[in-house]
Amino acid sequence: ATPTALTVATSRLTQGGVLVRRAHVLDTLPKANRMVFDKTGTLTQGKVALAGVNHAEDLTKEQALALAAALEAGSEHPIARAFAPHANTGIQVAGRQNHVGQGVSGVINGQEWRLGSAAWLQPKAQDASLCVYLANADGVQARFELADPLREDAAALVAACHEQGLKTTILTGDGSGQADKLASELGVCELRKNASPDDKLRYLQECAAAGEICLMVGDGINDAPVLAGAHASFAMAGGTDIAKNSADAILLGDNLQRLIMARHIAAAARRIIK
Ligand code: ADP
Ligand code: MG
Repeated sequence: ATPTALTVATSRLTQGGVLVRRAHVLDTLPKANRMVFDKTGTLTQGKVALAGVNHAEDLTKEQALALAAALEAGSEHPIARAFAPHANTGIQVAGRQNHVGQGVSGVINGQEWRLGSAAWLQPKAQDASLCVYLANADGVQARFELADPLREDAAALVAACHEQGLKTTILTGDGSGQADKLASELGVCELRKNASPDDKLRYLQECAAAGEICLMVGDGINDAPVLAGAHASFAMAGGTDIAKNSADAILLGDNLQRLIMARHIAAAARRIIK
């Protein structure tokens, strides 16, 4: 192998906005036959906004939002951004905890509150869109409907993957109808909903056992183990530090189509090396 070809490919990738952290990416990219995506923050913009609030009678909408914002303070999850405009109300939260792939919790005025997924707090819910729930020991006190728009280039990326013979999968911790809607809009081959970080890793192991070579793209804390478990992994530049540290390469500018460019460059380098 000529190290020069690799060096040239790596610098072309950097110029194109794909920062290679581990050199094996160049080898894996052209060989891969499946592309696995996280949903929130990866296929979607991660600019999560509040779309609606339902709350119990003994709570006002403002109180529900203030409690949610207080619980999310310090959270790096894209969902936390939906509540940020309602923060700084002076609500004190003790023992704040992040429950990866589920939500956040903390003690407010001596009472434990949780904010998170339907799977965690309201298992019977059948939401058509992305929703999170606010609950205390008495049960669910509010439901927040969230808008999480797709990235503009997500459909083009999925189409390009299929043209190049890559199968596609969405792996998401979300269990709502938004995941189904998005999967069918994009035409991805496979969807795994309600997937915990462990489920995500297990899925990749199943693919590997079936002889597949998987590329994985993610952004969140919850994606760190699965990024580390993929044959080659990519983190969105706007993602969490832990995702970026676990990934083999970083997509600058959060531009998904750069993955396809990276695959072409890596394939060309491989042809030169052979
Ligand atoms: P994804 O795999 O789509 O990126 P995650 O695994 O990060 O999603 O989260 C799964 C679900 O857990 C989210 O859809 C949400 O309902 C809930 N959740 C996770 N983190 C938070 C948080 N900080 N605040 C509220 N809900 C959260
Ligand atoms: Mg995510």
